[in-house]
Amino acid sequence: MTSEIESLSREFAKLTGIEWHEVSYKVDRYMCSCGASDPHQESNDPMAAIRNFMDAHSNPDFTDAREVIKVLDEIGRLDEFVVTCGALGKHSREDDLIPVRYVKTPGLMLAEAVTFMKGEKND
Ligand SMILES: [Zn+2]
Repeated sequence: MTSEIESLSREFAKLTGIEWHEVSYKVDRYMCSCGASDPHQESNDPMAAIRNFMDAHSNPDFTDAREVIKVLDEIGRLDEFVVTCGALGKHSREDDLIPVRYVKTPGLMLAEAVTFMKGEKND
């Protein structure tokens, strides 16, 4: 992920109630912002324990428009978003209205969804 996409992904997660994990190394183990710490010292396979911890505390990548659509659908905002971002505005059928450029350009749907969730869309 580029840093811009990562920053947008973090913001989108925050706006949609998805926990974002920030892992850092503290003293003798990895700790995550969600409160978890890696259990490698108690494991027979410390490297596998660290790998599993990193996997479990990795973050979603919303570069793909489908991932953004999935989240907006899960929180019940998809129809509203589609009407807002749709070129035709008046329709409400999501299968007709998502502009092709949002799907074609990685990260563009994410940027649009962040703007939508922040309520900054004025047109
Ligand atoms: Zn975590």
